Amino acid sequence: MTQHAKTITPAAASLEALARQRILILDGAMGTQIQTLGLTEEDYRGAGGCACAHHSDHPQKGNNDLLILTQPQAVEEIHFRYAMAGADIVETNTFSATSIAQADYGLEKAVFDLNAQGARIARRAMDRATAIDGRPRFVAGAIGPTNRTASLSPDVNNPGYRAVTFDDLAVAYGQQVTGLIAGGADLILIETIFDTLNAKAAIFACLQAFAATRVTLPLMISGTITDASGRTLSGQTPTAFWHSVAHARPFTVGLNCALGASAMRPHLAELAGVAPTRICAYPNAGLPNAFGQYDETPDQTAAQVADFAREGLVNIVGGCCGTTPDHIRALAEAVAPFRPREVPQ
Ligand SMILES: [Zn+2]
Repeated sequence: MTQHAKTITPAAASLEALARQRILILDGAMGTQIQTLGLTEEDYRGAGGCACAHHSDHPQKGNNDLLILTQPQAVEEIHFRYAMAGADIVETNTFSATSIAQADYGLEKAVFDLNAQGARIARRAMDRATAIDGRPRFVAGAIGPTNRTASLSPDVNNPGYRAVTFDDLAVAYGQQVTGLIAGGADLILIETIFDTLNAKAAIFACLQAFAATRVTLPLMISGTITDASGRTLSGQTPTAFWHSVAHARPFTVGLNCALGASAMRPHLAELAGVAPTRICAYPNAGLPNAFGQYDETPDQTAAQVADFAREGLVNIVGGCCGTTPDHIRALAEAVAPFRPREVPQ
């Protein structure tokens, strides 16, 4: 079976049709919303110290993905608020739900449940929102970069050393995507890519999972430009990044995180110039201040993202670190007058 003969899900067909009509809206940051809840170690662990079926003696405060199992109501409410603010697509709270990232918390065994439940919770929130306004909504299974990098050494004295291999990553991502599919994710979003080799392992795991389930979900692939020279941490320009992931025939390619919208613009324009697929951009609410907080107001972020839309650079927009439901509402209104970017054939 070739890529062209793939089975398209009804959700994917509906998503493609909508993307031709208008610029679609992705949600904003999950972490910022979780922070406002002021959760304690006990809250993270859940009622009775172990509300989920998985036990770990490691401290869990800060393990935001675990809240899927221990505070599911709170996570669902955040998804719901983003949906009602105008998000067509929300991301599951699974950025760090791989065995590699969960090893820090001793919860490698919880990975399947985190991903499957993470997708189900997001689906519930979307269905509630759709019951209110009738708008279709989509769940993107979020896959983060992990906390290890396959193409760079973490040890300056041993440049040949690697803390993780492509094969390790492919196995870990395979577990994650299997859980996301089991939970009913409509598409898969590989995001905050600072090392393209990690992303290639994630793509490989997705294509394997699609072959095994005989259902191909749309892939969104989002890189992160980490410095002023306009390269990813593994040293690629946006053009090189595109050519490294083009074989996945993604539904979107784009950029997120690290920079605010204005600083992201030239890199986004470069990507839009080379990639014959849809473009997705979800910048931070500006650059972090000295306290690591984001100061841009919803209107400020929305005005800059509207410039992307006015210039015909984007098909999907949303927010990354520091953005809130108010940012997403402002952004959805700001891009509404503009047509989605024409995808080059
Ligand atoms: Zn971010």
